[in-house]
Amino acid sequence: MNEAPTSPTTPAKSSTLAGNYFISNYPPFSFWSEDQKFQVEQALDTPPAPGAKLGLYHHIPFCRKRCHFCYFRVYTDKNAQDIQTYLDATVTELKSLAARPLFRDRKPHFVYFGGGTPSYLSAKQLHELTDKLKAVLPWDAAEEVAFEAEPGTLNPGKLTAIKNVGVTRLSLGVEHFDDHVLEINGRAHRSAEVFTAYERARAENFAQINIDLIAGMLEETEALWQRNIEQTLALRPDSVTIYQMEIPYNTTIYKEMKADGKLVAPVADWQTKRRWVKEAFAALESAGYTIASGYTAVLDPKRTKFVYRDELWTGADLIGLGVASFSHAAGVHYQNVTEIEPYLAAINAGQRPVKRAFRTTREELMIREFILQMKLGRVALGYFAEKFGVDLAQRFAAQFGHLAAEGFLTVDATQVRLTRDGLLCVDTLLHEFFLSQHRTNKIV
Ligand code: SF4
Repeated sequence: MNEAPTSPTTPAKSSTLAGNYFISNYPPFSFWSEDQKFQVEQALDTPPAPGAKLGLYHHIPFCRKRCHFCYFRVYTDKNAQDIQTYLDATVTELKSLAARPLFRDRKPHFVYFGGGTPSYLSAKQLHELTDKLKAVLPWDAAEEVAFEAEPGTLNPGKLTAIKNVGVTRLSLGVEHFDDHVLEINGRAHRSAEVFTAYERARAENFAQINIDLIAGMLEETEALWQRNIEQTLALRPDSVTIYQMEIPYNTTIYKEMKADGKLVAPVADWQTKRRWVKEAFAALESAGYTIASGYTAVLDPKRTKFVYRDELWTGADLIGLGVASFSHAAGVHYQNVTEIEPYLAAINAGQRPVKRAFRTTREELMIREFILQMKLGRVALGYFAEKFGVDLAQRFAAQFGHLAAEGFLTVDATQVRLTRDGLLCVDTLLHEFFLSQHRTNKIV
């Protein structure tokens, strides 16, 4: 069924208001419910689809300090014993999942440690955790093991441990190179720690180092952003990921806006943030990088893959372990409870720590993969014809016509291709492809 677009999409010069901008899944999380938790057990009892890839995500909800723009539930007050108790619970969770028909005898194709701050763990904790996880679900077939790190936590022993447990993609949460900007945004590290950590990481010979940046942090300026680009080019990481600052409701920044009765966040407007990313992408391209998605530039596209992203965006199953983690099990999306106490209580009671779930239809799975792949800047029509039996050019003719007229994309016989301007605001374009019942401003 073709559905005509219902809302104008031209990104006008617009202030940054509170709310989520980034789309990470479909249908939106607000449609997942407690009522559908039973779907998880049904999914776990089904055999895997032929050829389906499997990923493992492990969530570490601990940080040194809470950043003012952070919207995750993170803990800054847990001691070593608390952390050990949590890590042991995640291993128990994996044992329970790995024994079920959907995951039994499968090996992960990719592994991801996210947070929070995975590098907050000590070298000892990391070795013990990964040994236990591998004993349940061996990683020897994993093409990628990705690990998020906060630069200030990376002492030499820590980096060696991260390398020795098998990490291939180290992602440094740099966010910015200016110490005042880092401080005013509540980051725990400073630029000197970034340079030291980067040098040590290079010495460890990780297969891939990614640097995360955010365009439009509190007190960002034109000059500071240009300096950010220069510093990034000087380091020459394998991959650079740039997010545009958003202010979700549960951030410290939003709480202060609310207390002051302000509707507009004290950060750059969306047009400025997009221009900054556009300038960064242009500079990176001039330095030999290739734009690999709406957020990422890579130095060598043949060598520098991001398996976690690419497999998730083509429908892989994912075991998500720990507080608030997201899983995909044979067409059922689910998220774990978002607080550590109920998570531990559920694991100790031998229960599944699930907060909400959603069983997707085949059409919803098709739309999910389509909108996620749009973030890469190009979508192959043949992939969707073969996998879902759908002619995207016909299915989305109205949306494509409208967005092409606005200069955001082109469609030919084989692919949909976003223009650079379309790619830079891709998350605002995707709502048009949602089923009508899922179109809502509340994408949480
Ligand atoms: S380091 Fe990341 S997860 Fe931790 S508080 Fe900052 S933004 Fe949130």
